[in-house]
Amino acid sequence: MSRMTTASRASATRQFAPTSPPLPRRWSFTPSDLNWGVLGIGLIIAAMWVRHGGLDLFDSPLNALVAIGQLTALFGTYLALVGILLMSRAPFIDQVLGSDEASRLHRLAGFTSVWFIGAHALASTIGFSGVTTVPTLGEIWEQIYTFTILEEGGLGATVALALLILVALVSIRAARARLAYETWYGIHLYVYIAMALGFLHQLAIGTDFVGDELARNSWIALYAVAFVPLIIFRFLEPLFRNLRHRFYIDKVVIERDGVASIWIAGNAMDKLPVRAGQWFGIRVLNARGWWKSNPFSLSSGPNGIHLRFTVEALGDRSREFQNLEPGTRVFLEGPYGILTGAVRTREKVLLIAGGIGITPLRALFEVLPVRRGDMALLYRAPSNASVVLKRELRRIAEARGARLDIVTGSRDQFTFNDDPLSPGGLWAAYPDIRERDIYLCGSPRMMATVEKSLRDIGVSKGQIHLERFSW
Ligand SMILES: Cc1cc2nc3c(=O)[nH]c(=O)nc-3n(C[C@H](O)[C@H](O)[C@H](O)COP(=O)(O)OP(=O)(O)OC[C@H]3O[C@@H](n4cnc5c(N)ncnc54)[C@H](O)[C@@H]3O)c2cc1C
Repeated sequence: MSRMTTASRASATRQFAPTSPPLPRRWSFTPSDLNWGVLGIGLIIAAMWVRHGGLDLFDSPLNALVAIGQLTALFGTYLALVGILLMSRAPFIDQVLGSDEASRLHRLAGFTSVWFIGAHALASTIGFSGVTTVPTLGEIWEQIYTFTILEEGGLGATVALALLILVALVSIRAARARLAYETWYGIHLYVYIAMALGFLHQLAIGTDFVGDELARNSWIALYAVAFVPLIIFRFLEPLFRNLRHRFYIDKVVIERDGVASIWIAGNAMDKLPVRAGQWFGIRVLNARGWWKSNPFSLSSGPNGIHLRFTVEALGDRSREFQNLEPGTRVFLEGPYGILTGAVRTREKVLLIAGGIGITPLRALFEVLPVRRGDMALLYRAPSNASVVLKRELRRIAEARGARLDIVTGSRDQFTFNDDPLSPGGLWAAYPDIRERDIYLCGSPRMMATVEKSLRDIGVSKGQIHLERFSW
């Protein structure tokens, strides 16, 4: 440890002994509640469409296209709203799915919704054209122009579709990998403009909503179900939490070259509900940083005084974290994530960390309630020099009677038989691995290897808990 700086106002807080802060609220909401809710609302939407004569339209090819246009519009919008709810950071969604699964489903709902809304535009344009013979290019263009520009609500809907397609294009993995996170995120926000334009279009000319007040009001309520949690949990709750706690950087400790621990303090820290293993979005409130939130996991158990994060310099912002001045104000969004003790299913635990993925597991290593001998941490790092927090890991292992295995070396050094992350390697090191909960965090490649090994060994999906450090 080569450098340590301390803010003067922190000294007062350190006079108090650490306490356990409250745990975040557990919602009595289960995955099947979520599935039934989504399915139930889908069935109600389908019933509304049938009630408005949707099925009767299948009397001619053109009318059938109109019907398909209606259905794809309704379900395309519904999926977009489900996608927004999934990303609302509502704690009941986070608790049921976790941030990884929520963002995977958000992606699926988002792409499917764009396909549906594209199909709606195509089917409706042809369906309402009234053509009975093959149209000329001029007729096709005239129909598109009339439908997308001249008709009431047409222009807004066209812009909405164009924005949705743009967002889908930049979200394709190959495109996203070439964009800075902020660029991608900024473009992603166009979804809200698209949703607003689509909403106006639906209420103005949607067959299901013009002239049926119940359907209209229910549709508005559906938008509220998606947007109210988003407003509360993405904006209002973080705002009030930060106004209350007024977080600031207490000290920055350089752990090794390129890795620093950021200790954050604030008011009433013992009242902040949080669990070891969770993560926060951190916005540094200075001219360069206020507009970007970067996610980081707690690297030690919350103690009612500090939150500690350990940050590896992988890009511009994480590099700046290494040099932050004590006293700098920060805005925290969170806590999020379910890589916590709340998901335990077994007495015995194996924590598997790769590289900087050690951070949440270091926190869990410290606080997970286990009997002596029931917990092990396997920490995989490319080299001895890249291992972080080694001294404290050893101290915790000793104090808690836990096993600590630090395995270093490039993965090319290992053969299939001696790779500690292969099924054979894991089985040989932890013969009781099937009786353990596995907490896993590391690079995407390392996590994929371990997940496959665990499946091969026969560890069930419910025993494996993970956090991905990727977007
Ligand atoms: C849930 C979660 C917990 C994390 N915990 C830690 C931790 O404890 N310690 C640690 O060192 N790193 C952690 N990370 C990774 C960390 O967030 C990124 O390394 C950091 O945001 C990079 O930002 P940058 O501007 O320095 O780098 P960039 O050059 O912008 O990107 C470097 C890498 O980080 C990814 N990244 C950039 N911004 C974000 C973002 N807002 N959300 C997700 N990924 C992003 C990029 O895709 C790229 O792969 C975590 C990531 C997630 C998703």
